[in-house]
Amino acid sequence: MANFTSNRYDVVVCGAGPAGLMAACTLGRLTSGTRRILLLDKKEPWKEPIFCAEAVSKDRLNALWPVDSSFVRGTLSGIYFTSPKRYRAEFYSKDCGLVLDRARFHHALSDGCVSAGVECRYDALIKKLEKTDEGWNISVSVGGEIETLFAEAVVDASGPSCKLTRGIECLKGIESGDTDLEPAIFAVADGIEHSKEHIELFFGSEFESGYGWIFPRDGKEVNIGFVLGKDVDHKVPLRQKLLDFIARDYPNAKVKAVYGGMIACGQSEKPMAKCGLFKAGDAASCVNPISRSGIVESLLCGRIVAESVREWLGDSGMNRSAIEAKVLDRWMAALGKKHLQVAHAKVGFNKISDKQFDRAAYKLSKLPREKQTLFRIFFNVLWAAPSLIWKMRSFLR
Ligand SMILES: Cc1cc2nc3c(=O)[nH]c(=O)nc-3n(C[C@H](O)[C@H](O)[C@H](O)COP(=O)(O)OP(=O)(O)OC[C@H]3O[C@@H](n4cnc5c(N)ncnc54)[C@H](O)[C@@H]3O)c2cc1C
Repeated sequence: MANFTSNRYDVVVCGAGPAGLMAACTLGRLTSGTRRILLLDKKEPWKEPIFCAEAVSKDRLNALWPVDSSFVRGTLSGIYFTSPKRYRAEFYSKDCGLVLDRARFHHALSDGCVSAGVECRYDALIKKLEKTDEGWNISVSVGGEIETLFAEAVVDASGPSCKLTRGIECLKGIESGDTDLEPAIFAVADGIEHSKEHIELFFGSEFESGYGWIFPRDGKEVNIGFVLGKDVDHKVPLRQKLLDFIARDYPNAKVKAVYGGMIACGQSEKPMAKCGLFKAGDAASCVNPISRSGIVESLLCGRIVAESVREWLGDSGMNRSAIEAKVLDRWMAALGKKHLQVAHAKVGFNKISDKQFDRAAYKLSKLPREKQTLFRIFFNVLWAAPSLIWKMRSFLR
């Protein structure tokens, strides 16, 4: 008990990424200090590096957490879609997105948690969860010392690869699997000429079932990387593939560091809560299956989960199993249904040939910015590659 203010909590949130930070902060605010809430992570949420390209939609972020210049690296006003032959189509939309400084953003969220009365511990490795009659025992290692805490409810926001809930009998049917994890890798590099206000996305067989990217960081450095499909048999190790791509296309680039991670891209229809355990963010596979964006998605999921946990704790009088079952319905209504459609369209998207990407990008690259209405883009793509529209039909529904 030496490390914590108590060994009994109403809720323990496992993981202080966007999902866990948002869940803990929302829960703290909703319960106004009447409940003991503990947020745990093995590292400080602002500790660099954070394995992410850090791009988000400005409006969607703002709806969940007021945007503040202190955690913004830059503002985006467009996207370049680049085909295998390097034809580049520009989509212009003023203030369409932001590149975050995620370390600072996490700091702001963590400050919000503290203000909302949440106890935050960022030196606690969660070793094991165990179901008891009354709730959950959580074994935690702090400075090499193991402590056991009790919580009535647990939020698993431990990210894509975490195995916290594996093998727990009562969670059968909701435990995470490895099946939807896609490998992503990126370098922080300078010496690459780029627009500070655009992200650039690369499509084609080189980035099979995924895409490559260049995201600006501070005007000088970029985040350059790619994600591949989960089933791609990559013969060249990912790191080498990335370095080859950079050396070939950007011979003046200076690579400062390379990082990799997994992205949980398969929107699942499994329940998101059971026996007082609630899953949020990547632990519940809430990433957009095509764009692979997961920051705003995890924030939204964290908020939905927090609202459900508040009801579950007894404030609504509803049956607990019914509240647990409703979490998936809430997520589906908010974003999950769209993700299922996107996942469906992804199958067609992954079948688009290099030739079709080249034709569509070439055609679109000739369309002046002021003529970029959705109808014109659609018409131009249709003209260049009719089967492409067919393959994407469920996305356009
Ligand atoms: C290379 C890459 C690029 C990306 N780029 C973008 C992008 O540009 N835009 C976007 O929107 N999304 C992007 N994503 C996805 C985004 O990063 C994730 O979807 C998002 O971080 C998920 O948030 P989360 O809170 O669910 O999990 P995480 O951010 O993974 O947080 C989980 C937390 O749990 C902690 N944890 C795990 N296990 C334990 C344990 N046993 N004990 C204690 N703590 C534990 C971890 O330390 C971590 O802090 C990218 C992902 C990758 C890999």
